[in-house]
Amino acid sequence: WFEAHIAPIRFPGYATAAMISMRDLTEAHRVERMRVDFVANASHELRTPLASLLGFVETLQGPAKNDPAARDKFLSIMREQAQRMARLVDDLLSLSRIEQHMHVRPAEAVDLTMLVAHIVDTLTPMAEENNIPLALDLEPNVIVPGDRDELARIAENLIENALKYGQSENGPEPVEISLARKGVTAVFSVRDHGPGVAQEHIPRLTERFYRVDAGKSRAKGGTGLGLAIVKHIVLRHRGRLGIESALGEGSLFRVTLPAIDQAQGK
Ligand code: ADP
Repeated sequence: WFEAHIAPIRFPGYATAAMISMRDLTEAHRVERMRVDFVANASHELRTPLASLLGFVETLQGPAKNDPAARDKFLSIMREQAQRMARLVDDLLSLSRIEQHMHVRPAEAVDLTMLVAHIVDTLTPMAEENNIPLALDLEPNVIVPGDRDELARIAENLIENALKYGQSENGPEPVEISLARKGVTAVFSVRDHGPGVAQEHIPRLTERFYRVDAGKSRAKGGTGLGLAIVKHIVLRHRGRLGIESALGEGSLFRVTLPAIDQAQGK
């Protein structure tokens, strides 16, 4: 799609020329399309648990009114649905907050080593529950300029995903978490030995609400926004997110961030 402006140019004594300027509208259309899709997806994601909640309220007010066993069961499902809605709204708000601050680069000096170690501690019970060992290789004193909560979110989302989707089919294989300085950058990576994803999905994984298997994601409490949040945080920190994955071989998510040069303190 192009938008064209035609302006006549006249020089005395010469034939009239025309200046044609064209502006590419493809990008504008794409952005508009994404916005429309996003609103439709978000509404649908919120509408589903809401419909289920309303259904249970009606059942509790009607047929199940005097059935204590049914009431307890329905209330616990309603609680789960409400929690799902809360997670979704929290993720939508996080994403919107990060987007609003995209042009401001956060600059607090954050000890990424300590931060990742802390996130690993909080996720150890989940790893044990899923019977996945965590293998750590964290270089000490890796400091990056950034926003502590957002950087924690990167580690949390990537490790949680590896624990949710990275279960190996051949017995317990570890999720490998590493952090190292490479020149003026810090490289954080999470590798799993799970089923991996087919090549065609890889470029789309960071799109909002894109899931390879929506049923599995929902069953594991996913909102479909985790990697979109990771990508936005990485971009705000002027870093890069790399994804490698192959069916049957597992996945590798690698985040490269500008680091603070310890020798010069900048
Ligand atoms: P979700 O809330 O669905 O987990 P994410 O944005 O975090 O949303 O991830 C999007 C999709 O990417 C997931 O639904 C899953 O299909 C896929 N995915 C993410 N991490 C992995 C992984 N480590 N292994 C395989 N698939 C993954």
